[in-house]
Amino acid sequence: MGAARLTIDLDAICANWRALDALSGNDVETAAVVKADAYGIGALRVAKALADAGATSLFVALAEEGVAVRGMLGNQPDIYVFSGHMDGESDALASARLIPLLNAPEQMARHATNTPAHPFGVQLDTGMNRLGFEPSDWNDCRGELLESGPLLVMSHLACADEPDHPMNAQQLDAFRGMTDGISARRSLAATGGILLGPEYHFDLTRPGVGLYGGQPFGEARPAICLDVPVIQTRTVQPGESVGYGNAWTAAVPTKVATISAGYADGLMRSAAPGAVVFAGNTPCPVIGRISMDLVTVDVGGLQEIPAQLQVIGPNLSVDTFAEAAGTIGYEVLTSLGARYERVYLPQ
Ligand SMILES: *Cc1c(COP(=O)(O)O)cnc(C)c1O
Repeated sequence: MGAARLTIDLDAICANWRALDALSGNDVETAAVVKADAYGIGALRVAKALADAGATSLFVALAEEGVAVRGMLGNQPDIYVFSGHMDGESDALASARLIPLLNAPEQMARHATNTPAHPFGVQLDTGMNRLGFEPSDWNDCRGELLESGPLLVMSHLACADEPDHPMNAQQLDAFRGMTDGISARRSLAATGGILLGPEYHFDLTRPGVGLYGGQPFGEARPAICLDVPVIQTRTVQPGESVGYGNAWTAAVPTKVATISAGYADGLMRSAAPGAVVFAGNTPCPVIGRISMDLVTVDVGGLQEIPAQLQVIGPNLSVDTFAEAAGTIGYEVLTSLGARYERVYLPQ
């Protein structure tokens, strides 16, 4: 088989959800963020597994994503939409019973006009300046919004992956200032915010990346393995070079394996040089440039060439690969290729 195999451990994802849940009090609900196809892992399978494990609130970025998850899961659980109530989405939101997180006065007006009886939440901007009611708009609208009984009032932290960043306390203060005393349930923390401690947890937390084994949740169980078949091996002599642009030249005779995945599969070109892959527990450096469908690897350290080399797995987290590529685990996950054979465990 030519295609690389992506193995997704749904039990690990559920275990990560439980571990994140255990970090907050019993009165705090732990939701799950399954936007962008559950960070590239497969929203339908992941949402089903997490709902079966007990998650009762899911978050998506777009109404379309929510419609797909609703179709799979039936009536339960609650599905919140970060982008709120956008033009043309009223019917989809209502018929799939999605909960838009209203972001601005225009969205509030649209909701009141098109779907007045339909549940909603509110997203506030506490300094990230990306989504949510500005403090002044919130002042103007909060009476009317709160009267209709939002299911959730939330905001999002810009720097939660840096525990010492002063922005965290600043946003916490802003959120408290905007919401203390309201009766609606409140939410501020994603994965990073959960790790900042109880004062960030409020009534509901919204972890995403930590579920999928990524930083900043250092205790996460790895959730994916990527095993890439070796197509061919050869010995390259001193002075010979490998790959596009002759980017790597052998100094000594070197055994090179060519494996069957490349930047079209989300293995970013920028990860070479620097990336390593694994044969069992033995690291093997990537050499030359990463091609669209192929990566070349120095396998000189191996006694025996295995049928596959591992690009992501227990020895090599998405964040390690991301570091070689100059990016973050989130981007590696959401770039995972469509060509992979996907195997979900347990089946
Ligand atoms: C993506 C996102 C989350 C989840 O963030 P993680 O860092 O992946 O845990 C939570 N809330 C909002 C508003 C988001 O955009």
